[in-house]
Amino acid sequence: MNIESTRMPAVFLGHGNPMNAIERNPFHESWENLGRLLPRPNAVLCISAHWEAPGVRVTSSQQPETIHDFHGFPKELFAVEYPAHGDPELAQRVCTLLQGHEVMLDSERGLDHGAWGVLRPMYPAADVPVVQLSMDTRQPLQFHYDLARKLAPLRDEGVLILCSGNIVHNLRAFRYDDPVAPGWAVEFNDAVKQKLLSRNHQALIDYGLLGEHATLAVPTVEHYLPLIYVLGVQRETDRVELIDDVVLSAISMTSVLIGEGRST
Ligand code: ZN
Repeated sequence: MNIESTRMPAVFLGHGNPMNAIERNPFHESWENLGRLLPRPNAVLCISAHWEAPGVRVTSSQQPETIHDFHGFPKELFAVEYPAHGDPELAQRVCTLLQGHEVMLDSERGLDHGAWGVLRPMYPAADVPVVQLSMDTRQPLQFHYDLARKLAPLRDEGVLILCSGNIVHNLRAFRYDDPVAPGWAVEFNDAVKQKLLSRNHQALIDYGLLGEHATLAVPTVEHYLPLIYVLGVQRETDRVELIDDVVLSAISMTSVLIGEGRST
């Protein structure tokens, strides 16, 4: 995608294995390329699968800590620090845009691995400030879509909306030793892709109706939900581009880039 507009693109990244943050592999490299390809943002607003909260919260610390919210990984991963600054002004702007919602500024919360795991390859110098928005997973998907629509103006203010999850994410069915994706995972991922490309947002909000495998593909909603945020900030004129479009066992790494300009 050639980026010719001042309006920032928005992305949904399939983050997958936390090791992708430090391992040189095609996903890591793809996120590095994305960091170079995208117009340089003033700040990032990240919506990650790994911050569920009972309510809408926004990180407001000047220096958010790096949260190592995983178990059983090598110590190199626990040693990673991602020292990007926060952006209290952006946090306040998010509150303003979400007027009508009860939004809480959270000065204690740091960045989870859904955020820094992809941001570290994209912006290795950690020189782009980052704010995270929580997801209240008690709410229906329509709530999240409507909320995300109110955040769309940030794209005209130089803010990169970065959504981090996985379209298909079933850890019980995941096999480390066998990357071949089961048919149900590919089918569900294909159904989602088709709706993305035909811009059928309602079908993606009502994902439970997308074929018989929705429950297997999305056993819990938190990894799918960031996708709804990238739909919410999509504009009529935006193109949709799929990147890293593979399914590894029971995890889809399909990512989505939306923005103006020609597809290349
Ligand atoms: Zn995850």
